[in-house]
Amino acid sequence: MKIQQLIVGSMGVCCYIASCPVTKQAAVIDPGGDIPKILNAVKQGGLSVRSIIATHSHPDHICGVAELKAAIPAASFIMHKDEAAFLAHPEAGRFFAMFGMDEAPVCDRTVVNGDTIAVGDEAFTVIHTPGHTPGGMCLLCGDDLLTGDTLFVQGIGRTDFPGGSFDQLMNSIQTRLFSLPDQTRVWPGHGYGGSQSTVGAEKRGNPFL
Ligand SMILES: [Zn+2]
Ligand SMILES: [Zn+2]
Repeated sequence: MKIQQLIVGSMGVCCYIASCPVTKQAAVIDPGGDIPKILNAVKQGGLSVRSIIATHSHPDHICGVAELKAAIPAASFIMHKDEAAFLAHPEAGRFFAMFGMDEAPVCDRTVVNGDTIAVGDEAFTVIHTPGHTPGGMCLLCGDDLLTGDTLFVQGIGRTDFPGGSFDQLMNSIQTRLFSLPDQTRVWPGHGYGGSQSTVGAEKRGNPFL
């Protein structure tokens, strides 16, 4: 899988374009704004986007989904099952309103831990990592791990937002991410402490763990 990182939106979200080198089919992960920039990168790569995936439903990660779907109607929007349910809660709605978003985008497909999301001849495996949000997930393909707001370079996601749990977050990272091989590349949802790391480097040097 080819992974391209783009920093988008006012919150500095790391959006990813993951593509299959053979078929040129692609997925866009966390389109948090700057949709023209994302579409331009898709065009430059000669890619065909089949899915739009949100690691979780926070507005900074999904505020561009509707605009991206309007530009690429064939792409389906995918989230974890628990996150789609979480979005339906009034508390989540109020949280969205705080960010000036009145409506959450409609989910076309929900996934659970262990499911795969095909990207051409390649595929992501879904790793459910609750803690930052109830249905937060990481995406693994070979040695590439997209961690959303669960794990950052030298940091971890906040747990003080609706649905957050510090204990769950720690458990998710320790049992589901740190069990992966040390050389696994970590691609975070924000570049606060750096834009790329490895599981081994975070196990050794992350001050929160
Ligand atoms: Zn978040
Ligand atoms: Zn975020």
